[in-house]
Amino acid sequence: PSYEDVSAPTDAVGVRPLLPVVGANLRVPLVTGQETTYANLDYAASAPCLEEVAAHLTEVLPYYASVHRGAGYASQVSTSLYENARAQVAAFVGARADDVVVFTRNTTDALNLLAHCVPTDGAGERAGDVLFLDIEHHANLLPWQRGRHRYVVAGTTQRATLVALRAELAARPAALLAITGASNVTGEVLPLTEIVALAHEAGARVVLDAAQLAPHRRIDLAATGVDYVAFSGHKVYAPLGSGVLVGRRDWLDEAPAYLPGGGAVREVTLTGTTWASAPQRHEGGTPNVLGAAALARACLVLADLPEGALEEHEEALRNRLASRLDALAGVRLHQIWRDSPSAIGVVAFTVEGYEPGFVAAYLSAEHGIGVRDGKFCAHPLLSRLGAQAGTLRASVGVGTTLSDVDRLADAVERLLSVGP
Ligand code: PLP
Repeated sequence: PSYEDVSAPTDAVGVRPLLPVVGANLRVPLVTGQETTYANLDYAASAPCLEEVAAHLTEVLPYYASVHRGAGYASQVSTSLYENARAQVAAFVGARADDVVVFTRNTTDALNLLAHCVPTDGAGERAGDVLFLDIEHHANLLPWQRGRHRYVVAGTTQRATLVALRAELAARPAALLAITGASNVTGEVLPLTEIVALAHEAGARVVLDAAQLAPHRRIDLAATGVDYVAFSGHKVYAPLGSGVLVGRRDWLDEAPAYLPGGGAVREVTLTGTTWASAPQRHEGGTPNVLGAAALARACLVLADLPEGALEEHEEALRNRLASRLDALAGVRLHQIWRDSPSAIGVVAFTVEGYEPGFVAAYLSAEHGIGVRDGKFCAHPLLSRLGAQAGTLRASVGVGTTLSDVDRLADAVERLLSVGP
């Protein structure tokens, strides 16, 4: 992406948070013994809870109970909360009428569930390969490595990457292409429509790892043709502990239960079991009703934002952050591709002469700024970026303001002015 210089914005975009989040005015201790307001620039790891989600949870907390089998009033309320949450998530991702929404613990769990459901041959092996790029988060790589799989090395441009994907799909068929919507390291957004067309032409289904995309861009399964999507509640401004897999029913109905147990069955005898259809088939045990309700409420709030508001807010923040960091001699920004047309609010960078972990600790202890450092569960990507020791990652969202990103750029500038 090109970093437009927005260091002197003429309008108010990014000056105020787009939506109120819990903990916006959190006070944190500094190494000096003083306190400051926390600048949370780690949204890509876990985003803060929306105030509206917190209010919804407080409202429903008195009613929470075990779902489906309870006849009591609280159980009825919980059951409708849970099933309404399913419908709301389906609407949020533009699901087709026959798509299934399975609640999971997080994106990792959702992708493992799908890995478990890829059709198998008579010997229990995957009937076809799962294909993925070398830029993926481990959650969208390790579950596929457990069976038949192939990977494609992404090119230095998105164009070249599409060519490589097309060639691999043409060379040998694949059952599934597993692809991220946006890189969790660099924020670059992938050309989804073209990727889906390539996969479908070759007879492969597509699963979208939307852990990073869902908080930042609208997803539409019906319009894009994406077959499955996975994402996490804690990245779309709900608390930790819930996630979803949404997509085509046949694979989910035909696979063995993911988590055998109560709720996943129609009938059990000591000699045989009739399993329920999806989603219940894969949701054994007492479900996380509050997690599902919070995730769904967060989806409703995001979907309610005026068209383009999210992108405009984040783009102003990301451009300001990237252009200010890029202007500092000694700071290097990292990108996968030379031609990415857009990126979500995530910036990876390194500071010459300093270990990323040192810089992250300095930002926290001396400035009350929270960023992430390391390899971001994407070791193959960090290697190809030439950053085996890791990088820093700053990420923004609906609660971030220009003043937060300026604090980060000022602090890095100060570090560089002192010298290693
Ligand atoms: N995929 C991507 C692109 C991610 O960024 C993450 C988390 O950082 C995951 C998957 C895994 O998400 P979770 O830890 O919620 O399972």
